[in-house]
Amino acid sequence: MTTLDQLFETAKSARERAYAPYSDFKVGAAILTKGGKVIAGCNVENAAYPEGVCAEGGAISAMILAGETEIAEVVVVGDAALCTPCGGCRQKLKEFADGTVKVHVADLFGIRRTFSVAELLPAGFELK
Ligand SMILES: [Zn+2]
Repeated sequence: MTTLDQLFETAKSARERAYAPYSDFKVGAAILTKGGKVIAGCNVENAAYPEGVCAEGGAISAMILAGETEIAEVVVVGDAALCTPCGGCRQKLKEFADGTVKVHVADLFGIRRTFSVAELLPAGFELK
């Protein structure tokens, strides 16, 4: 199994654990860190809608907890034609990934498209 296959399977499994009773739109994400760890996240909705957390945001939180701060590659899995990260998550990914990092977007059957972080978020916000 390649690393990319492992990321896809990890994201797909994470998606199964998503808490999405309101939208019924489950998403899973898997991050490969530069340190070689594979870290998963799933979306967690809330009755107060904006308080929910996207799969990518959950994975980033878990990555930080695991002591990693650099993203090497990302896979996002959702049951949609093109489940790209939302605008907020693009900025969250940029915080920990350089513009060349690949973000693979998958449906339940496999990866459908691959973007770089810079393609997903041109002219992203930078404080420094
Ligand atoms: Zn998001």
